[in-house]
Amino acid sequence: MNIGIVTGEFNPEITSVMEKHAIAKAEELGVNVVKSLKVPGSFDMPIVVKKLLMRNDVDAVITLGAIIKGDTKHDETIGFAVANKLADLSTEFNKPVTLGIIGPGATWEQAEGRAKDYAERALVAAVKLLEEINVFKGDRMKFVSSAKLPTEYGNFKIFGFKDGKKEHVALVNGNTESERVLVRVHSKCLTGDTFSSMRCDCNAQLRESLKLIGSDGGILIYLDQEGRGIGLLNKLKAYELQDGGMAIAETNEYLGFDYDERDYSIAAEILKFLGVAKIMLLTNNPDKIELLKNLGIDVERLPLVIEPNEYNSKYLETKKLKAGHLL
Ligand SMILES: [Zn+2]
Repeated sequence: MNIGIVTGEFNPEITSVMEKHAIAKAEELGVNVVKSLKVPGSFDMPIVVKKLLMRNDVDAVITLGAIIKGDTKHDETIGFAVANKLADLSTEFNKPVTLGIIGPGATWEQAEGRAKDYAERALVAAVKLLEEINVFKGDRMKFVSSAKLPTEYGNFKIFGFKDGKKEHVALVNGNTESERVLVRVHSKCLTGDTFSSMRCDCNAQLRESLKLIGSDGGILIYLDQEGRGIGLLNKLKAYELQDGGMAIAETNEYLGFDYDERDYSIAAEILKFLGVAKIMLLTNNPDKIELLKNLGIDVERLPLVIEPNEYNSKYLETKKLKAGHLL
């Protein structure tokens, strides 16, 4: 996510503080500030904002300014005219333009007190808007780069995608233009995939999928949604509850989550990006098939057979009973 910042230099003691806080907040949220420009006053904002909006590498613009009580005549009229113009530019370019402008009602002391808050709020509003626009456009996922990835299972090409703060990858082996492509959509499981935990069957499923795709060709989509989408530390809390005797099916709900919080829309977008519409999906999860079908993918299933072990038999039983897995 790339943004531009335009700061009015009118009342610079306050606006320079606003600019500093907006940049700090951007850094905190992982937002890239492409340019931070200063203009003499509010009336000069629209022309500079427009220049920034025209750039392909700017997704949104944040404007910062402070109008102090008694300092300016006609301040309300000016503010109104500028805000209108900025709103027009926002719709014209279909990119958010947010206003961190301290209004003409504020005294110096009040303006100083509000500088940080207003600047941060303008930035957060732009990020929220961008997330919403991108969700509506159905393309919140952004392709970032691709590279060769030789593995024990075969030679892949790895594609990296960004989705807000999440990072997903797709490992592609061979030609994806065949009639129906072999695909595994795997959600990240640090304990299973990396540490070979036996509490779940993720590691075995990942390895089996890599083996099949590595030899026959296909795609492994690896989604950054740890622990059925609840995150690593929440998953560990769930394990702790299970160690204390709570049934697996109940722990997520006890922690305030659904049994399964995963979202496969990114997988559908990645498949579309790779030009794949018909897949042979390696899965035992009927929900995953249904969800991908609803997202416009033609899905046939190939079962992924994994031998249970003494630690995961309860987990597999829960998958079968709670989520109708075809085991
Ligand atoms: Zn797992």
